[in-house]
Amino acid sequence: MIPKDVAAYLKKRVTKGKLAAFTGAGVSAESGIPTFRGKGGLWEKYDPQVVANAKGLTSLLRKHPGELADFINDFYGVLLKARPNPAHVALSLLEKEHVLSTLITQNIDNLHQEAGSRSVIELHGNAFRIRCTGCSRTLIFEKERLAEMTALLKRKKDSYLDLLKILGRYFPRCGCGGRFRIDIVMFGELLPEEELSRAYECLEACETLLVVGSSLVVYPAAGLPLFAKEHGATIIEINHEPSALSNLSDFRLTGKASELVPAVAHALTS
Ligand code: NAD
Repeated sequence: MIPKDVAAYLKKRVTKGKLAAFTGAGVSAESGIPTFRGKGGLWEKYDPQVVANAKGLTSLLRKHPGELADFINDFYGVLLKARPNPAHVALSLLEKEHVLSTLITQNIDNLHQEAGSRSVIELHGNAFRIRCTGCSRTLIFEKERLAEMTALLKRKKDSYLDLLKILGRYFPRCGCGGRFRIDIVMFGELLPEEELSRAYECLEACETLLVVGSSLVVYPAAGLPLFAKEHGATIIEINHEPSALSNLSDFRLTGKASELVPAVAHALTS
């Protein structure tokens, strides 16, 4: 399944601990989470400028509470059902075998951690976490609580005041006076500084970067594989379509992440 030149590179040229991975929405597509831009993705139904934007969400709550409730239900409905697929599992095994140093992800679905990966840098946050807008304290947003919230939203979705009450319960005030919000990076917001600087450090140190399932059009995250390449890393790309980086990749593996990542992991560890 893996071309001979790639298999030979993986076996002979990858040093333990000098491999890093960079993942995008494509790694989770086979877990049942459509990529946002792809067929059946969220952006077919909702305008990202409204629902992936803090101001847009506030205005939606006031003007069209039913639409906001539908969006939250669709968004979390998919995330709550998703389970790690063989690509997530293979990446976590590579970390356990000390082959993979760090995994940098644009995803917010927590599936790498669910599969067992520990050294994960989340560039865009995590949908299963809330963060205080005042003191930045974070809390886990447990799946049971999320399911409870979406069930309530389904029942009481059309009244602004009902919706406000439900959201106020699940996104409460913090002791510092600030309010908790979902801990994901929305349009127009900066990437978390600490994660970004850890990502640059890891990309500077790695010799090989495995880029899985990313169109590489969402900046600034999309610039990171290029940074690795400029610092001497060999890029291996896994995607079922060409990406913005394809011409610069040293090796391209075309196909499904759930088949190709385990094949790469097998070549690296056998
Ligand atoms: P994208 O939607 O722009 O691109 C996804 C890429 O994955 C495409 O290039 C596509 O060809 C490829 N792909 C799709 N299915 C694949 C498969 N089975 N195997 C291999 N490749 C496959 O995604 P992006 O580049 O990650 O950027 C979109 C932004 O939206 C990111 O910031 C990300 O945070 C967010 N997002 C996250 C999730 C998630 O957390 N699961 C889902 C959708 C979008």
